[in-house]
Amino acid sequence: MPSPIIAANFKTNHTRASTAEYVSRLDGWLAKNGYGMPVYLFPPATALDRFETESDIRIGAQNAYPTVKGSFTGEIGMEQLDEFGVETILVGHSERRHILGESQAFIARKFAWFMERGLEIFYCIGEPLEVREAGEKAVRHYLVEQLEGIDTSYEKLTLAYEPVWAIGTGKTATPELIEQTHAVIKAISDRPLLYGGSVKPANIAEVLAVPGCDGALIGTASWEISGMETMLEIVKS
Ligand code: PEP
Repeated sequence: MPSPIIAANFKTNHTRASTAEYVSRLDGWLAKNGYGMPVYLFPPATALDRFETESDIRIGAQNAYPTVKGSFTGEIGMEQLDEFGVETILVGHSERRHILGESQAFIARKFAWFMERGLEIFYCIGEPLEVREAGEKAVRHYLVEQLEGIDTSYEKLTLAYEPVWAIGTGKTATPELIEQTHAVIKAISDRPLLYGGSVKPANIAEVLAVPGCDGALIGTASWEISGMETMLEIVKS
């Protein structure tokens, strides 16, 4: 069995200096302990860089605008990603959907644009609390809408199911709920499917033991390198 896919989303945390320190320490841990799979890090845009590492650490962008370059104030495009050899991008994260107001139409356009350029895409979907409370049928409908316009057979796609009510709240979905919801998504796409939402050292083993869970996208608990090392130690096969 391969080790699960582990991806760390730094969100708006870490500087260029602290990211370099983190990568160096993670590289040391991976070189010493081995993992058998690439480990993905999504640092803030200002910390993107070409890191010299012994182990397979893949640096991804949390976001970019679907353009090579141009007049999109505050955004970065392909030219800025290429400068650092970034070949992985997060698309559809709930904070971009719900805080930054990205529509499904725009997300689908972004997905298609980066897919055409061959980037590896981590694509996030997940329902807010009121939809979860409305029941299974409502959740299914909501998730299907978040896949509208997305090529779910893209060979460089990794999906992440991240219920909004579990992100950064300390509330993790139960294994039963993850299994049930992953089955809905797996019926649509056979691409690897991660769970995200308050994954931490105390629950990562339980989350990754869920049938149909291929890994974890981790925010808060990944920000301290010691937490990341602990989680990798727990899940490494
Ligand atoms: C995330 O941002 O993708 C995430 C899962 O965050 P947290 O682990 O903090 O819930």
